[in-house]
Amino acid sequence: MTNSLIKGVKAFYRVNPTYDVCPSCKASGSLQRSHSRNLREKFVSKLSFHKYYRCKQCGWRGAIRIIRFTQASITIILFYLLLIFGIGFITQQILKRLL
Ligand SMILES: [Zn+2]
Repeated sequence: MTNSLIKGVKAFYRVNPTYDVCPSCKASGSLQRSHSRNLREKFVSKLSFHKYYRCKQCGWRGAIRIIRFTQASITIILFYLLLIFGIGFITQQILKRLL
C-alpha cells in the first residue's frame, strides 16, 4: 500500500528557470545562468537550492530556487520521517532488551 502511494512520485522537482519568466520584466525565456560574483553568492549557490540568473532583456540579476516542492512532497517527506522515527524507536526497544 505505502509502496503504491509513493511509487513514481518525486519528493522534489528540479526545474530549469531559463524557461521561466523574469521576476522583474516578466519576459519569457530571457533568463540565463550567471556566475557567482563573491564568496556569499558562491556559498548560496553551493549550499542552497538557489542559483543565480540574469535577465537578457532588462538586466535583472538574482537567485532563483531550482527545486520545487509539491503537495505530494510533504506527504513523502512525512512518510520517510515516520519511517525513520519508527525504525529508530524499534531499534531502541530491541537494544534496551538486549543490553
Ligand atoms: Zn527581465
